[in-house]
Amino acid sequence: MARQQILRAFKFTLAPSLAQESELRRYAGASRWAFNHALAAKVAAHELWRSKVAALVETGVEEAAARRQIKVAVPTKPTVHKAWIAARGDSRTGEDGACPWWHEVNTYCFQSAFLDADAAWKNWLAWVQGGRTGRRVGYPVFKKRGRSRDSFRIHHNVTKPGIRLTSHRRLRIPKLGEIRLHDSGKRLARLIGRGDAVVQSVTVLRGGLRWYASVLCKVTVELPERPTRRQAAAGLVGVDLGVTHLMALSQPVDFGAGPVELVDNPRHLLAISRRLHRAQQALSRTQPGSGRREKAKQRVAHLHNKVAVRRAGFLHTLTKRLATGFHTVAVEDLNVTGMTSSARGTVKRPGRQVRQKAGLNRAILDAAFGEIRRQLAYKTSWYGAKLVVIDRWFPSSKTCSACGKQNPRMTLADRVFTCSCGLVLNRDMNAARNIAIQALPIPALGRGTVASDRGET
Ligand SMILES: [Zn+2]
Repeated sequence: MARQQILRAFKFTLAPSLAQESELRRYAGASRWAFNHALAAKVAAHELWRSKVAALVETGVEEAAARRQIKVAVPTKPTVHKAWIAARGDSRTGEDGACPWWHEVNTYCFQSAFLDADAAWKNWLAWVQGGRTGRRVGYPVFKKRGRSRDSFRIHHNVTKPGIRLTSHRRLRIPKLGEIRLHDSGKRLARLIGRGDAVVQSVTVLRGGLRWYASVLCKVTVELPERPTRRQAAAGLVGVDLGVTHLMALSQPVDFGAGPVELVDNPRHLLAISRRLHRAQQALSRTQPGSGRREKAKQRVAHLHNKVAVRRAGFLHTLTKRLATGFHTVAVEDLNVTGMTSSARGTVKRPGRQVRQKAGLNRAILDAAFGEIRRQLAYKTSWYGAKLVVIDRWFPSSKTCSACGKQNPRMTLADRVFTCSCGLVLNRDMNAARNIAIQALPIPALGRGTVASDRGET
């Protein structure tokens, strides 16, 4: 065991008063304003650079050379912050400016939004310059009220913590005051009391009609340096994420209701998902600008949030069990998942009937895959296990997990993998076993261990 500090977020559902709720909206508005303000400064610098390059090209310089020659600094947080202080004005003294109401809101609300704009810009730049693999990162967009998520983040001086739990049911945020919590903050309060957790910041966000606070803490934990004997004995598990089944596993795992190799989305999640689908249809039938549309919109947002909350709880159970139960967890590269075409369809274009069977909304599934990967990454490190990400260059759903032979005749409709060697296995389970085999240091060993499954139906 080694004592280590990790960052951990504690999530609470807030129960703000009506007055507090309008304050929260105002803070979210200030954060949006600050993000847009910082982004506008970056966009302006970028435009200036572009026009200077264009002017130089006019004079006969080659484009690539002109791009290298022209330098325009894109302002980052320190510059933006300084300029903002100089130009913001102050409604208390009647001084005119860009943001004279700034003193009504916690100042950290602006600062963290400036930082977020930096991050958005950096991500886009990294993608353009090819330093970042993965999903395409678009040019940063301005946040729009009603379109972007309402949220803001507040920091504090950790030596004089202003963000704190004043009781198990109350969270104090500087300048905003004490907000009641729906759920208990007992666990966090205890950790703080023992000196095992130090609050770093709080992010407040709206999901549907509810407001949540995510309190980010530096937590001191005892991290195992190596897997337990039980984990070592269980070895490696391959996880295939898919549309028909949320997860297929290379070996049975007990999540509380007996060992399973296929994990489906729970019934209650499917039920809400269907309600969400109907609410979305109802929304599309309303007239723009009507009162009914507003109502329908609220309902969609509310259900969206409900799905997200329930799904999060469900996924935590799955990922914790995998991270604590095995020496190594192997998953496929998310990117590659998006491009692989198989019976399950691709992430972008799932097979038609498959999607109906799955019954879960596209966007929800996409988010679930990303979330599972994210949770597995940090939980495996917490519990002394290892996460192996497989670059799926081989057609895992067309390859036999027992003998390694390929079966090119597998079609989109085939739910069962059959091989001339005698293997008969659920297609997703076969894929999960292939993922496990890919993660083994010696592939030949893997083939041997699953060969006993021949003939299984
Ligand atoms: Zn075979």
